[in-house]
Amino acid sequence: MTEAHAGKRFPRPTAVTAGYWEGCHKHRLLIQRCTQCEHLQFYPRSICSSCMGRELGWVHASGQGQVSSYTVIRHPVSKAYADETPYVLALIRLAEGPTMMSVLCNCEPESIRVGLAVEVVFERWSDEITIAKFQPSKGN
Ligand SMILES: [Zn+2]
Repeated sequence: MTEAHAGKRFPRPTAVTAGYWEGCHKHRLLIQRCTQCEHLQFYPRSICSSCMGRELGWVHASGQGQVSSYTVIRHPVSKAYADETPYVLALIRLAEGPTMMSVLCNCEPESIRVGLAVEVVFERWSDEITIAKFQPSKGN
């Protein structure tokens, strides 16, 4: 764990989510695709949220998306996050369709708007955990 992330709540990969976390470690944003109906989904689940199928694979998402909603966090949930406030927590509609919640970085909160184009960036927290965050796309 790097000093900057001491005290933070670390995700705990499970059998269902391990593929996602391995992807983040390699700086690849992976989402699930149902082998029966080809539905794409995020977050990782053991069944398809469309057809309830149990055969799910991973596909490499582009990492491109748009902000569909957001809020500015001004009060840290603990001391571990105090240096990061204010920060933006957003719902991001990925270009492939699924929506994921993440933090927007490398931007001023006042510059964020619904519809803003964003792209994934990866932040290494430890040997096991790398977090997918988003930043405004270079084309904005
Ligand atoms: Zn399905």
